Amino acid sequence: YLIFKIILGKNGVPAAENFRLEQSTIADTIQGGQVRVRTLYLSVDPYMRCRMNEDTGSDYLLPWQLSEVADGGGIGVVEESKHDNLAKGDFVTSFNWPWQTVAILDGSLLQKLVPQLVNGHLSYFLGAAGITGLTALLGIKEKGHVAVGANQTMVVSGAAGACGSMAGQIGRLEGCSRVVGIAGTDEKCSILVQEMGFDAAINYKKGNVAEQLRELCPGGVDVYFDNVGGDISDAVISQMNQNSHIILCGQISQYNKDVPYPPPLPPDTEKIQKERNITRERFLVLNYMDKQEASILQLCQWIQEGKLKVRETMVEGLANIGAAFQSMMNGGNIGKQIVSVSK
Ligand code: NAP
Repeated sequence: YLIFKIILGKNGVPAAENFRLEQSTIADTIQGGQVRVRTLYLSVDPYMRCRMNEDTGSDYLLPWQLSEVADGGGIGVVEESKHDNLAKGDFVTSFNWPWQTVAILDGSLLQKLVPQLVNGHLSYFLGAAGITGLTALLGIKEKGHVAVGANQTMVVSGAAGACGSMAGQIGRLEGCSRVVGIAGTDEKCSILVQEMGFDAAINYKKGNVAEQLRELCPGGVDVYFDNVGGDISDAVISQMNQNSHIILCGQISQYNKDVPYPPPLPPDTEKIQKERNITRERFLVLNYMDKQEASILQLCQWIQEGKLKVRETMVEGLANIGAAFQSMMNGGNIGKQIVSVSK
């Protein structure tokens, strides 16, 4: 199984070498209420960077412990069950799946999955039909003030990532008339426009973001789905309209720095935010879990109808999970970054 090796300081870039793979054994027998599962897919996500700090900055996130097995979102298949509601062959998921090929887990902490809901594409339950899809949908519904017929323009940063690619498409489905994405490569920008129905996309590594936004959003920006923070967000906020709304999803450009969350805006940007009465409330998907079931069904329906296009970046093998995490934090992913764990 995979063991976490060092906890980084608060300023630092995560690397594959922060993780090491170890072989070990698990018990031969399972106890009442337990199941033995084989891992199929693991998720790597930006919030894991916060779990590499002794103080994660959030009550709901525990730090990973030195030389303990890391964990996160995962999916597996039940190989043996002593839990009343789970049987051999069931597909199950948990937010705290250990980064192991095989594990003995408490069956009551697992959720059963219905593969037909995602056309058999199980790993979608870690992305488009899982927490990232939920984050995009509930972020827009709870903080976006999007209304059909209101002729709103939405801008999405981190747009080709797991949450961002869902957010732009859902913004459109919920009623935005114009959707513009910001991402880190030309390939990502072209996928956003050609495959995912964005009206336009900006490569933030080329040219001036504020100038390009001024051209691409002639009526200004009404809703900003913010995954990244920093300079990109300052540029977007400069183009936002009176009484517009920021969906404060994440601030990945700040995660390797020792700053509070949400990071305060620079004075000039804060002045614009106040003068234009732009809302910027903290959003945390875990606060809306009462809406999880209905929202997942909505996401699955859109996927089945072909209204939500899903991209994944799949890396093979548990041994490569540290590298997959490092790559995702550096923009190596298109859509959801998943690690497939076969044997
Ligand atoms: P992701 O977007 O699939 O992956 C991260 C992406 O961020 C990278 O691919 C990279 O793409 C971009 N990035 C990295 N460093 C950047 C920088 N300095 N400036 C601009 N872009 C940068 O990850 P995700 O899982 O969808 O998460 C996106 C955001 O949502 C994160 O901030 C995460 O913390 C947040 N989130 C929040 C909640 C919630 O409840 N609020 C839940 C889930 C996720 P580029 O090539 O475009 O740079």
